[in-house]
Amino acid sequence: MDLPIFYAPPENILDGLIQLPSTEARHAITIMRLRPGSLVLVVDGLGTAYRGELVKTSPRKVVIRIHAEQRSFGEPTVRMTLAAGLSTGQKFDLVVQTGTELGVKRFVPIIAEKSKVRFEDAGRGRARAARLERVALAAIKQCRRAYRPEIALPTLLQDFLDEQAGEDIRFIFHPSAQARPFERVEMSENSKRVTLLVGPESGFSDEEVHGAVESGFVPVSLGQRILRTEAAGPAVVALVMQRLGEFR
Ligand code: SAH
Repeated sequence: MDLPIFYAPPENILDGLIQLPSTEARHAITIMRLRPGSLVLVVDGLGTAYRGELVKTSPRKVVIRIHAEQRSFGEPTVRMTLAAGLSTGQKFDLVVQTGTELGVKRFVPIIAEKSKVRFEDAGRGRARAARLERVALAAIKQCRRAYRPEIALPTLLQDFLDEQAGEDIRFIFHPSAQARPFERVEMSENSKRVTLLVGPESGFSDEEVHGAVESGFVPVSLGQRILRTEAAGPAVVALVMQRLGEFR
């Protein structure tokens, strides 16, 4: 059976021992009813997983002795960024949740011309940022991955485009006859850094697609059926991960 999995930040890991944060400790003791001697897995959010044994427990304090550690636990080889139009309400939560489970390393909420969320309002979304961090944390435990993806602050499309020069693959997804069908897009399996760009609810304007192409993005289409933005993000991540051989 898979070991129960917990999160502890790196500062809680010292001299072969891990102290769980209080919410994780409470979960371990009162819900999972773990006791000294129970074996667990702890991820540090930076890519390392530790296997170990509970040595000291109280409802607020759980200490784990480390038996073994593994770096890059559950990580894909590719460093994938998903830049997706920030949607209204909680739709972006689903993008972060499923994207994390599929191996995304960095999420960038994008504000585009037709976005319903305005940049001025997005910048103040501290509650949203905290919620997305919690969603990502729950997702790494769910999918058994040790790296907690980075979630950038909401970014204007143009500012984002300017910063992606070092990427091996840059795609902008756009449902248009001018975009290249995904089937026919070439991708080297050696690509190390990938950036995928997906629009908000009302998509990108032609000028935005043009600007992205000028910055080196390839416009890609998924064919006739139009997916909702919160479905399109995870869908393109899965498609590209598959082509890069990450589902072995
Ligand atoms: N009416 C909008 C649809 C937006 S769908 C438009 O015509 O652009 C939200 C986003 O999901 C799009 O901006 C695009 O990035 C992605 N998407 C959804 N379906 C797609 C498809 N068939 N091909 C390419 N991208 C798609």
